[in-house]
Amino acid sequence: MTAPIAHPTFKLPDFVALSTRIRASRREDVESALAREHRDLADLAALLSPAAEMLLPELARRSAAVTSRRFGRVIQLYAPLYLSSYCCNRCLYCGFSVDNEIPRRLLSLDEAAAEAKILARRGFEHILLVSGEAPAKLGVDYLEELAHRLRDDFAAISIEVQPLQEEEYARLFAAGITAVAVYQETYDRRIYDEVHLAGLKADYDRRLEIPVRAARAGMREVGLGALLGLADWRAEGLALGEHLAWLRKQAWRTALTISFPRLRPASGSFKPRVEVTEKNLSQLLFALRLFDPDLGLILSTREEQRYRDGMIGLGPTRYSAGSCTVPGGYGDTEAAGEQFAIGDHRDLAAVAAAIRARGHDPVLKDWDRVFQQH
Ligand code: SF4
Repeated sequence: MTAPIAHPTFKLPDFVALSTRIRASRREDVESALAREHRDLADLAALLSPAAEMLLPELARRSAAVTSRRFGRVIQLYAPLYLSSYCCNRCLYCGFSVDNEIPRRLLSLDEAAAEAKILARRGFEHILLVSGEAPAKLGVDYLEELAHRLRDDFAAISIEVQPLQEEEYARLFAAGITAVAVYQETYDRRIYDEVHLAGLKADYDRRLEIPVRAARAGMREVGLGALLGLADWRAEGLALGEHLAWLRKQAWRTALTISFPRLRPASGSFKPRVEVTEKNLSQLLFALRLFDPDLGLILSTREEQRYRDGMIGLGPTRYSAGSCTVPGGYGDTEAAGEQFAIGDHRDLAAVAAAIRARGHDPVLKDWDRVFQQH
């Protein structure tokens, strides 16, 4: 019998130590990080530091230049499609948390396909399938069947669902799903334990291993993220950098993205534990762009129109548009039970127009299934 392959696991340095490392950075460290062509984790720590705040315009200018050189003057556009609001987990910050008394809904395959048709008619070619984590209601068979139904209508299909096994990700890739987003929510283990009270998601280490699992299964793109407002955002940024650097070594063929969800109002009474301002969010985004020029950076409709428009060209590479966070909400505008409230309510045409107005091209299709190798 062949022994199972032992894969290396990601070991994150202590979160408090990351925070201390960042705060030890001085202005000279920031200037030295800015001057470099290739930046390491020490540079990232400097760029995330309070000392870097005074140089924020310079960070923005360099981030814009690096982004333009690597990606051109384009912003990709996508829409989320919420499939189910059922969830087995108790995450204190989330509207879908099992304790919240909201109307719950699981779309049938026909209903999900009908919602997707609406998005296709609106012009979207990239969709993100989203659901709470309730595998008994929505499992791999469902996602595989849905992908088969949608693959001819969309150039790219991504998922943000419960963590899966490597062979399950491989099945979904073969069915036409090419990207997986799985956010750690917070890299601070102590706070992670405080806000994830029950369900499989309460296992910090298990969650940390999912991105590499999806990459090993052959996914073309893997997305990371921290939910901003739970813990020290600077240390979350450095932890993301550590995770990214490790993943780049393990899965060099996989494209990596980072999302920047800031806590938004949701069902339940959870209030952000730390304030993360737009200025903070900008610094985090610029620092990660300068650390890893190849990184896809996603700014969703959680953020407001004014802020999203102002960030065009400075670092982000992908925006959502026309989003609804209620299952069935595209066809039924009365549907209730959203995961969180959104900040930018514009449709695809309006977001695309704003991108064009800032001298960039909105891109609906950046992938074609004919490129997909099995
Ligand atoms: S964050 Fe995800 S896993 Fe947690 S309650 Fe919400 S949908 Fe469920």
